[in-house]
Amino acid sequence: MPKRYISREILIGSLTLGGDRAIRVQSMVNTPTLNTLATVDQVVRLAKAGCELVRITAANIREAENLKNILQELKNKKIDIPLIADIHFQPKAAEVAARIVDKVRINPGNYTGKHHRNKKYSETDYRAELEQISRNLKPLLNICKQHNTALRIGINHGSLPGHILYKHGNTPEGMVISAMEFISVCRKNNFHNLTLSLKASDVITMIEANRLMVNKMKKEGIDYPLHLGVTEAGNGTEGRIKSAMGIGTLLAEGIGNTIRVSLTEPPENEIPVAKKLIEYYGRGHSKRVGKMQWQAFGKIPVNQRDAVVSIKETKPLSDNSKILLLSYPFLSFNNLILRAAVDFNLAYEKQKPDGVFIRNGFETDSGRLKELALQILQARGLRYYKTEFVACPSCGRTHFNIEKELEKVKKRLGNIKGLKIAVMGCLVNGPGEMAGADYGFVGSAPGKVDLYQGPKILFKNLTEEEALDRLEKIILGK
Ligand code: SF4
Repeated sequence: MPKRYISREILIGSLTLGGDRAIRVQSMVNTPTLNTLATVDQVVRLAKAGCELVRITAANIREAENLKNILQELKNKKIDIPLIADIHFQPKAAEVAARIVDKVRINPGNYTGKHHRNKKYSETDYRAELEQISRNLKPLLNICKQHNTALRIGINHGSLPGHILYKHGNTPEGMVISAMEFISVCRKNNFHNLTLSLKASDVITMIEANRLMVNKMKKEGIDYPLHLGVTEAGNGTEGRIKSAMGIGTLLAEGIGNTIRVSLTEPPENEIPVAKKLIEYYGRGHSKRVGKMQWQAFGKIPVNQRDAVVSIKETKPLSDNSKILLLSYPFLSFNNLILRAAVDFNLAYEKQKPDGVFIRNGFETDSGRLKELALQILQARGLRYYKTEFVACPSCGRTHFNIEKELEKVKKRLGNIKGLKIAVMGCLVNGPGEMAGADYGFVGSAPGKVDLYQGPKILFKNLTEEEALDRLEKIILGK
C-alpha cells in the first residue's frame, strides 16, 4: 500500500491544509467578481454543498478591492469559508487581494519578463528572469507575511514562462523547475505558507508533473501541500473521466492535499465528484469496490464479447489477447465513471492490456459500457473515437454562456475522429491554454466569440450563433 505524501501543514483562514489532515475540497465561482450578491450566492451554494475553500477571480485592482464587500456579505450571512483570489496578469491585484482574503493564487508566467515564446535565452537572460521573479514576488510575500495570507504557486502546463519553455520545454520537468524557481524565492524570503499546483489539460502530463514534484520535494527536503486538478476537462462524462483519472490516480498513490474537479458546469456539480474521489482513493490506496481481473479474450463468453474494447483500434483482439476486466457491483453511472476511469489507469500503468471490458452488476446496456470504455481510452490518449474537447470551467472573466455553447458545439461537431476543439471563456487566458486544439471558440466580449484555427485568429467578435455556423462550415465544409 503506498504511503501518503505528508506535507507540512499550512493555515488558510481557519482551515488547516496538509499534514495528515483530510483532503480538502475546493472550487471556483464563475460569477463576475464585481457582482457582489451573485458571487456571494454562489459561494453560499458551494459551502452548503460541502466545498471547503472557494476561489474568486480578481482580474484587476477594482475586482480585488471588491473582495472586501464579498467577504463582508458572507460574514453578514455567517458563512465562514476561506476565500482565495485568483490572479492572472496583474501582480498588483494580488498585492491588494492578499490584504483581504485568506489565500492568493498566482501564475508564474505573470512574474517574469514579457512572454517571449520564441525568444532564445542566453544564460544571462535566464538569470535576469530569475532576478525579475525575485524582485516581482518580494512585495507580495511581504504582504502575505503581514496578513497571514497563504499563497498558491499555480503552474499551468499551458502557460509556462518563456525562459522555462526555451530551456526545459513544455514538459512535466519544466513545470517542476518553474515551481522550484518560485519556491526558492519564497524560501529565501522565509515564506512557507505555501501550496503548489501543477495542472494540465492532458491527464498524463498532470499525473507525471505531480509525481516528479513530490520526488523533487523529497529530494530537496521540502514539503509543501499539493493542490490537484486537471484543467479544461470539459463537462459531462468526459469532464468527470479526465478529472477522476488525473486526481484519483494521484490520490491512490497518497499524493494530494486538496483537490478541485474543474467542470464546465455549475461549480456546485464539482463537489459530489470531488467527495466521491476522496472517499474512493483519498487514503492513499484504492477502496475495494468490485474486482479487477485479467482474462484471455477467448475465455470471455461469446455473447459478452461485443462489449470488450480493443485498446488499439488497429489491433483486433484474438483469443490470447489480455483483457482487463473491471467488474463492479451495481454502481450508479456517476460513480461507475469515476471508478472505471481511475481503476483502468492504475491497472494500465502496471500491465498494458490489449483490451478492456467493463461490467456493472446487472446492467445490460452493453452499448453504454462500451462507450464508457472508449471515453476512458480517449481521456488516457490511447484511442480517439470522436472529437476531443478542451473546455475551461469558466470564471468571473467569462464573457458568454460557455455551458450552453459547449453543449451546442458538441451537438454539431462532436463526432469527428481526430479533431480537437477548445471552448474557452475569455481572451486573456483562453488562447494560451487551448492545449494545441485544432480550433478554438473563445469568448471575447459579452455575447461575442473569436474563432481560432490553432494559434491563428480567424474571425473576431462574432455572435455565438455566427461563430458556431462558421466553425461548422470550416470543419464540415457546409
Ligand atoms: S480561460 Fe476560462 S477559466 Fe481561465 S481565466 Fe479565462 S474564463 Fe477563466
